[in-house]
Amino acid sequence: MEATGIDVRSPVDDRLLASVDNADAATVARIVANLRAAQPEWEALGVAERSRWLHLYRDWLLDHADDLARLLQEETGKAWPESRAEPAYPVHVINYYTKHAARFLAAESPRPASILVANKRQERLLRPYPVVGVISPWNFPLALAMMDALPALIAGAAVAIKPSELTPLATRAAVAGWREIGAPDIFACVTGAGETGAALVDEVDFVQFTGSERTGRRIAERAGARLIPCGLELGGKDAMIVLADADIERAARGAVFGALYNAGQTCVSVERVYVVAEVYDRFVDAVVAEVGRLRHGAVTPDYGIDVGAMTVAQQAEIVAEHVADARERGARVLIGGSRRGEHYYEPTVLVDVDHSMTCMRAETFGPLLPIMKANDVDEAIRLANDSPYGLSASIWTRDRALARRQAQRLEVGAVNVNDVIVNLLALPLPHGGWKASGLGARNGGPYGIRKYCRSQAVLSDRFPLPLTPHWFPYKRGNAERFARFMRTAGTRDVRRRWRAITGR
Ligand code: NAD
Repeated sequence: MEATGIDVRSPVDDRLLASVDNADAATVARIVANLRAAQPEWEALGVAERSRWLHLYRDWLLDHADDLARLLQEETGKAWPESRAEPAYPVHVINYYTKHAARFLAAESPRPASILVANKRQERLLRPYPVVGVISPWNFPLALAMMDALPALIAGAAVAIKPSELTPLATRAAVAGWREIGAPDIFACVTGAGETGAALVDEVDFVQFTGSERTGRRIAERAGARLIPCGLELGGKDAMIVLADADIERAARGAVFGALYNAGQTCVSVERVYVVAEVYDRFVDAVVAEVGRLRHGAVTPDYGIDVGAMTVAQQAEIVAEHVADARERGARVLIGGSRRGEHYYEPTVLVDVDHSMTCMRAETFGPLLPIMKANDVDEAIRLANDSPYGLSASIWTRDRALARRQAQRLEVGAVNVNDVIVNLLALPLPHGGWKASGLGARNGGPYGIRKYCRSQAVLSDRFPLPLTPHWFPYKRGNAERFARFMRTAGTRDVRRRWRAITGR
């Protein structure tokens, strides 16, 4: 592999923004070796000192939030409020984990569960994987990379991020901030394409991947071959279920936001809606009216656009294919339905859709909102579960008890009631996909940081005991006594067992 550069272009006007390294395998190996060498000292600093660095880094992120937002907008074509919101996310991640890290990472001393180790002091320590590789996609370049990298750093690991080759600039700039504050050299950004990501998988001790199912499977195979753990956050086909007693206006606005936020390029986008027959017409009318109010087009750093560009032209092509397939099979477009240039597809509402259509089965990842009528809640749940994916879903009803019951019938990692996407902000809860949507989870309170650690058991004597009758050399008397002791210690009915063993 040769180390040639990668040109990063704006999806808005195709302007060349920058050229970044396309790191080859040798470069990746060198970077990881440096991180590995520096990591023990980082771990030895302890949680409090590591948190102090993270707090300094949080301040740097806040001081540079607007610069990062501008870079994000340039490389992704996101609407300005979406670009502005992203740098704030890592700040919350830092605050949450640094506040709880001492407790989440504390050693535990469980009581002995067997008389055989009654004299042992037992400790479970959490020791970080030395180097964690974070491989991230282009849709939320900064937030997704950081939400995985930061808890790993706080856990005491060194981290190398490989951002998407399509959107590496904001992440590269943010990681440079770590060096600017003078923090230990345990955080790196390795730019490059898929092969660079593959080279990273070959070097690190834990891979945290966010991206497509296809790449996720390849990473899992490679991680399996290397016997290293991996976490996979993959694609989705999130369903929204609207029941008869829902607040229809709110549900319609929620559907539109959920489907079109970030131009539909969100893993937890609303990708399909099932509405019970009683309220179907009202819901559809309200959705079309809401979509009609949106401003779509080339973004600028202000608030004039609601739905921006599609970061990847190929993704706009996928949307066009899904719409064409649905139309051929009898679906109707109520609003939108056209590609407007290489990186733009109009916000589009489809009705008369069914599960024979690609738009109801495959991830669209674009500004498309297909709505299907369901006879009742049972049919809606069945249709929602009829998917290879299981990332998240939402259910809309005024009856909270009903929502809770139905949530437990959904085969997904998260359910929002009367809301969309917001589960991503709930750091104490896990964010992870079921079925083909992933492996493991991010966040989830202690789990979000402990996942980057290996458990280590340490045992030591409470009181010095000279007796070690089970050690060499084996002697009949000792061995017999020890065997009896072992069996008797394992029983609840000691007397009967003792008689059975000894015949006395
Ligand atoms: P992608 O799989 O094409 O690329 C993701 C990253 O993997 C990039 O950095 C890429 O360079 C790298 N990569 C490619 N081939 C590789 C290989 N063989 N080995 C190692 N790394 C490799 O995904 P994408 O198109 O950038 O992202 C869009 C996808 O991400 C969608 O499916 C979306 O649903 C998913 N996503 C999931 C979540 C989640 O949390 N579940 C969040 C955001 C996006």
